[in-house]
Amino acid sequence: MHTEKVDTIIIGGGLSGIYAAFLLSKKKKPYVLLEARDRVGGRILSPEHQGFFADLGPSWYWPAINPKVNALLQTLGLNGYPQFETGMGRFQARDGHVETIEGYPMEPPGCRLFGGMISVVKGLCSRIPKDVIRLNHPVCEIERMENGVQVTVGRLDEKPKCRLFASGIILALPPRLAARSILFTPDLSYDLTQAMLKSSTWMAGQAKFFALYDKADWRKIGLSGQGFSLCGPLGEIHDGSSDATRPYGLTGFVGIPALRRKDSETMVRAILTQLSLLYGQAAGRPVSVYYQDWAREEFTATEYDQRAAHDHPEFQPPSGKTSIWDGMFHFAGTETADHLRGYLEGALSSAERAVSAVI
Ligand SMILES: Cc1cc2nc3c(=O)[nH]c(=O)nc-3n(C[C@H](O)[C@H](O)[C@H](O)COP(=O)(O)OP(=O)(O)OC[C@H]3O[C@@H](n4cnc5c(N)ncnc54)[C@H](O)[C@@H]3O)c2cc1C
Repeated sequence: MHTEKVDTIIIGGGLSGIYAAFLLSKKKKPYVLLEARDRVGGRILSPEHQGFFADLGPSWYWPAINPKVNALLQTLGLNGYPQFETGMGRFQARDGHVETIEGYPMEPPGCRLFGGMISVVKGLCSRIPKDVIRLNHPVCEIERMENGVQVTVGRLDEKPKCRLFASGIILALPPRLAARSILFTPDLSYDLTQAMLKSSTWMAGQAKFFALYDKADWRKIGLSGQGFSLCGPLGEIHDGSSDATRPYGLTGFVGIPALRRKDSETMVRAILTQLSLLYGQAAGRPVSVYYQDWAREEFTATEYDQRAAHDHPEFQPPSGKTSIWDGMFHFAGTETADHLRGYLEGALSSAERAVSAVI
């Protein structure tokens, strides 16, 4: 099989990989980005409904503590709007009964993005060459060679799709997922492999729901859309409306652990029943619904992520090193960041660190 030679390979086209690509492009450094899925964005996913983008992955950034996100939004000419929080909240007890409660304002205040979080990925992609991103390219093997690294694309149980050779790689995916799904030669050290497996992938065990409406009837009865439930299926609910006008939205995180969640149809039916109980009959009749179970996504979650993780990921590689193999292999991905690990802010800082190491 022919082995293609490239300068740098970025593995993973989530925010950290795409941002690393943008930074390498700015430095005029050649590279290729290999993405396993048939789309870029990774945990950022925002299906469109009549020009509105419903975030099924991240939806907030926090301007007060996200300087890198703020700067990137400015570069890309994107704008946010505050999370809607006016009105009372709803609380559902374990036995199902519902009470109206004072809302909890988000601290620090969070913002949603016009165009959904995917607009960040689209903005970055429009600023990098078209031919550098290869979709449907899952990396299954990474091998250290003399003066470089060989990367094999394909499935471990099938004939390889292609091989590439580079002088350096940026591994821009959750370390746990990489340790679980990619063969490394020579073996990564025991301590590094354990550090990778122990670093939980932020939100990988979660499922998210989004319902869209032509009217926000809950606002008319003084409710903010914020809700908490101990019986579920949704455990936490927020108003996910567009800032300007239609569509209005209710969105939330499923409170049931991954292993006990049913198929998406059953989940959506149960969630709509819950929403009509919390916010009135009309909340059970949205114009559109979206549901994403991240724990079932092979390019996000592993079997270790099926248990709910509430602690933020910790990645503690031996001696704190995020570059190995004599500087030919660089970790990126939000889980490897020094600060705000797990968040978009961490994805950006991890990419900056990896790109400076490559250069
Ligand atoms: C439901 C949910 C809600 C969230 N809410 C927020 C929020 O409100 N605010 C916030 O700041 N953060 C939030 N996050 C976290 C945020 O989404 C992540 O911090 C960020 O998107 C991570 O980007 P990443 O590039 O590090 O990883 P990922 O997005 O996971 O990207 C990794 C990429 O690698 C690809 N890949 C995997 N395996 C391979 C392989 N073998 N070969 C090639 N490619 C591969 C994947 O397909 C993916 O595109 C949320 C996440 C979820 C799931």
